[in-house]
Amino acid sequence: MTQPPEGLKLRPLIGRLAPSPTGVLHLGNARSLLLAWLSIRSGGGQLWLRIEDIDGPRVRSGAIESCLEDLQWLGLDWDGDVQIQSERLSRHQQVLDDLLDAGLAYPCVCTRSEVEEAASAPHESSDADAPVYPGSCRGRWSSEQQATAETGRNCAIRLAVNEDAIPFEDRFAGRCEGQIHGDFVIRKRDGTPAYQLAVVVDDIDSGVTEVLRADDLLPSTPRQMLIYRHLGAESPRFTHVPLVVGPDRRRLAKRHGDTSLARYRREGVTPETIIGALAHSIGWVEEGTRCRAQDLLDGFLDGFDLSSLPHEPMIWSDDRLR
Ligand code: GLU
Repeated sequence: MTQPPEGLKLRPLIGRLAPSPTGVLHLGNARSLLLAWLSIRSGGGQLWLRIEDIDGPRVRSGAIESCLEDLQWLGLDWDGDVQIQSERLSRHQQVLDDLLDAGLAYPCVCTRSEVEEAASAPHESSDADAPVYPGSCRGRWSSEQQATAETGRNCAIRLAVNEDAIPFEDRFAGRCEGQIHGDFVIRKRDGTPAYQLAVVVDDIDSGVTEVLRADDLLPSTPRQMLIYRHLGAESPRFTHVPLVVGPDRRRLAKRHGDTSLARYRREGVTPETIIGALAHSIGWVEEGTRCRAQDLLDGFLDGFDLSSLPHEPMIWSDDRLR
């Protein structure tokens, strides 16, 4: 590789694969993970694997092991040790304390139904099922202890949001308005950090510069950018790619039958067939092509290119494997 001119400091290229072991990996996960892997590997960057296992009740036993197996089977590798998000809870709490001390976050005792009742109009919220929080607890408590002592309830922690939006440029989705939709939860009432906080803290601590993931997380991005800002860190470059959906155009899920990689593997489908079908859906190869992730990587020596990726969701059906 040619050396950059002296004095020119290039931004490092560091990405991550961040699966949640809440179920087995399915084809939808596989497509975004393949794209995330290629985007970093094609630029010679570093790629971490972080298992996002803090969503306690939804984490299935054995899911971490099968996730690692699936990634290896697909031919997607990573650098260094596997990072386990639940091993970083004290670091997340430290950041929560800093945000509380700085007055950027506050304890909230409201229950979900109270929030729903208080929301007077059907707002468009970034979580389809979560109404915009009306701010009832903002400025109400001097500390978490006081809030709990007076109400007998456990507190969530919310970020105090003073801006309507943080517009940003997504590498695939383009210009995004970045609506934030009010004060949002960064630690849940059960004491675990919310996804929005944990993902940002972990990405900052591991120096991540590129985030490529499915576009169901696009609405979370401005919230995360606000956390980056409060923590004095630069946001990574974001690339959100279309989801994989079933024939009914709903997000790929159990109702569409078993589309887990484990099932295809059991039935003797090869990783080359899966990668070929995914690459075909991205517009890179002819239908029926079988190839390895490494073959795709070899084709990207001149740079990772998403120009043939359709902006519509990919509709999955098992016919794609024939
Ligand atoms: N763990 C999340 C998921 O599997 C991804 C989080 C992220 O990429 O920011 O959906």
